[in-house]
Parts: sequence; C-alpha cells; structure tokens
Amino acid sequence: MRVGIGYDVHRLVEGRDLIIGGVKIPYEKGLLGHSDADVLTHAIMDSLLGAAALGDIGRHFPDTDEKYKGSNSLDLLKEVKKLIEDKHYVVENIDAVIVAQAPKMAPHIPAMIENIASILEIEPDQINIKATTEEGLGVTGKGEGISSHVVSMLNSVENYSYYAFDPLEEERNCGGCSGCHKHG
Ligand code: MG
Repeated sequence: MRVGIGYDVHRLVEGRDLIIGGVKIPYEKGLLGHSDADVLTHAIMDSLLGAAALGDIGRHFPDTDEKYKGSNSLDLLKEVKKLIEDKHYVVENIDAVIVAQAPKMAPHIPAMIENIASILEIEPDQINIKATTEEGLGVTGKGEGISSHVVSMLNSVENYSYYAFDPLEEERNCGGCSGCHKHG
C-alpha cells in the first residue's frame, strides 16, 4: 500500500466557468487557470502521482505548454491513470475535501464521484468527496478562491491474486481486485 497527498488552490474570477470534479457548477464566478482549473481533479492527480512517486502534475502537464491550455482536467486524469498503471498500481481509495465558502458543493458531489470513478475505472464507493467552508476566514472564506485537499491510497497489482481461476465461470476473477473492470 502506498499513500499520497494532493493540494491545489485556484483564484475565483468573473467570466470563467466553475468546473469541479468535471461538473460545471452554476455560479457567478469560475476558477482561473491555464487548463479548466478543476481544483479537485488537480489535487486528485497530485495525490495519485505522489503515491506512485511520479512527481506532480506540473512535471507531466506544464502550464507553460500551449497543449494544455483550456484542457479538460478529466482528460489529464486519464493520462495519470495510465502513468500509475504503467507502474503496476491500482487505486484503493481516494478521500477528498473541497474548501469553498460558496456555492454549495453538496448537490454536485454525486456527479463528481461518478466522473472520477468512470475515468479511473473504479467503483463509486472507492471515492469520497467532502466539502467544507472556512467560516469566512482566509482565501476561501472571503470567496477569493477554492482549494482542495486529497489523500489517495494505491495498491500494487502484485498484492492481488490472479490465480483465482473459477472452472465453472471459465475465467479469472482476479481475487476480488477492484482495480479494473476487465475481469469482473
Ligand atoms: Mg491546479
């Protein structure tokens, strides 16, 4: 098992869409950034890269690269999934906090979980997303920005049994591994 931490913050400005966890949230302001500035997805990616000792998103998707301008962060998450799979890791679970004074995140959390789970090809109950305010204090409390903290856990595929062959089903069941949907 390997654990990783991710943190991100983006400034709230007028004239931008507010995209968090791949969900477009109706609000008078949006997050400023080179990509879609999806603060939650960025923190998730950094936590996954951290757990796999693969650096951070700045290393893999530099904001000086025109290629990533306006990019959909869920597409970048798909790239991160490939990077961690190349190192033979699977996601055990992700626990995330979004820190925002407004708007209310709760109504959008199920859709965020669905987006992240479908990109990572894991079950929704492997992802937990919480939201909090900072009681009017500091950058998020004054509505200047939104931040996110994430902890992720990875497991090595070697820790799963690939030999749980079921002769009745005539296929591998991968020892209960929840890392992919390729083998029930
Ligand atoms: Mg960011």
